[in-house]
Amino acid sequence: MQKLLQAYQAQVEAKKPIPQENAKRYVPAKIKNYVLVKTNNTCAFPGCTKKYKYLHHTWRFALTKMHDPDSLIPLCKPHERLAHAGLIENENQSPENWKIKLEADKTNEKWLKADKWVAEYYTGKR
Ligand SMILES: [Zn+2]
Repeated sequence: MQKLLQAYQAQVEAKKPIPQENAKRYVPAKIKNYVLVKTNNTCAFPGCTKKYKYLHHTWRFALTKMHDPDSLIPLCKPHERLAHAGLIENENQSPENWKIKLEADKTNEKWLKADKWVAEYYTGKR
């Protein structure tokens, strides 16, 4: 079973699309499909079993203008909100290393150039 799983993961990995740079907001189907196969359409937050709602850019699309299959993570709505609240520790690592933070770092680029605006949007200030 372990071997089968590894073979399956290798097969998925072999089909990894190249990152799309200077991208539009819309994630290309090839990249979207690759990312979703890895989590079987569920949220990738450790322990979460909800269906994904967003493809989350862990480096923030506003900063990178890139759709990178390695840093595009399917998340449910509450976990996407948590990410944009700056409350995921190790967000740039793979999700099994993620932890919830109690306080956001509001001095980093992600907060200043992306999450701050998202937060205002969600709270109706924009
Ligand atoms: Zn979730």
